[in-house]
Amino acid sequence: MAGGGVFGAVVSIVLARYGMTITIADPRGLGENASGVAAGMLAPAFECLLDPCTPNLALLREARNLWPDLAAYLGLTIDTAGAMAVAEPCVTNGWMAAAEVRGIDMRRLSEASARAMSPWLGSAASAIWTPEDWRIDPKDALWAIRRRARELGINWVNSSVEAFVPGQALLIDGSRLDCDALVIATGNSLSLVKTAPELATIVPIKGHILRFPGLMLDGPVVRKAGVYICPTSRGAVVGSTMEPGRDDLIVDPAAVESIRMAAGAATHDFLSAAFEARTGVRSAMPDGLPLVGPSRTKDVWLLVGARRNGWLLAPLVARVIADGLADAPRSTWAELFDPDRAMTPV
Ligand SMILES: Cc1cc2nc3c(=O)[nH]c(=O)nc-3n(C[C@H](O)[C@H](O)[C@H](O)COP(=O)(O)OP(=O)(O)OC[C@H]3O[C@@H](n4cnc5c(N)ncnc54)[C@H](O)[C@@H]3O)c2cc1C
Repeated sequence: MAGGGVFGAVVSIVLARYGMTITIADPRGLGENASGVAAGMLAPAFECLLDPCTPNLALLREARNLWPDLAAYLGLTIDTAGAMAVAEPCVTNGWMAAAEVRGIDMRRLSEASARAMSPWLGSAASAIWTPEDWRIDPKDALWAIRRRARELGINWVNSSVEAFVPGQALLIDGSRLDCDALVIATGNSLSLVKTAPELATIVPIKGHILRFPGLMLDGPVVRKAGVYICPTSRGAVVGSTMEPGRDDLIVDPAAVESIRMAAGAATHDFLSAAFEARTGVRSAMPDGLPLVGPSRTKDVWLLVGARRNGWLLAPLVARVIADGLADAPRSTWAELFDPDRAMTPV
């Protein structure tokens, strides 16, 4: 496995549980990637309503429904407090209507109920809430995955994969790993594009996110114009920007300020509290779906293009890869994620 972000790590665990022998190679430390920066929302409902590129509710819901089993196996708690959105009535009315058409469980909240859920909100008029969106803590999850990986005998190597020849992955330090197959889970990196030409289609989307360790808020995730606010046991996490075409990790003060001001409109506490700004780079395909399945290069598999829902999708893409390696019949999702579409001119 090239890459130990959430895609590579969760898939490795699933494959190891099927009895396969796995080595993960990744030059970065745990969480020093998009997976470690993420907010950890498992949010089929609002992702479907707010992100024009991921309207496949059935896909996002099925992925979320696989999380309770994975979380139980990892010993993780899922926060099922749901997600609220607060906006002008004309906006929330539109979301309610769209949710109804799609069969999303979305409920209008009275101001009193919204305030009872999130007492810290400055204004809670015109709020809606869904129980469909959940959240996990990426930091806890990455540690839990690492622990389980160790128990399953997964070998974690601190190095980059440079190339693949049949039967061997070549590492940057010149060493070779014997393997029947290479799975490429390298996020936005194009380092293995010569090995798997499908990777050339991947585009980066940079994101800024802010952590306020001293701001301990209660209640569900809150979405407001230009921002989401996740109350967590480590303080509020507030994000995020979508900056297509950017793959650098430089913190841009203007992006930070736009998030902070948007959060400040929810409660002024965000304007005075100490925070840490971080960035991560998502990988995406133009159609918004990941590339998961066999490459045209023999014995090479792709597991990239998670876009803004890598945590949500991880258990589902794990099943697709496991089925593929076991030669099981292809599911609808395997068809949708087929990496060959990256090689087909549009
Ligand atoms: C600000 C922000 C907020 C987000 N919030 C959410 C959220 O709330 N919910 C959600 O579901 N998703 C969220 N995401 C998206 C999610 O973080 C990504 O989709 C997911 O982390 C991608 O995981 P990955 O394993 O594909 O990539 P990464 O986490 O980027 O991991 C790729 C790994 O591959 C390694 N690598 C690269 N090249 C090589 C090589 N040649 N050999 C070996 N290793 C290599 C890298 O070092 C890296 O560790 C967010 C993303 C951002 C940026």
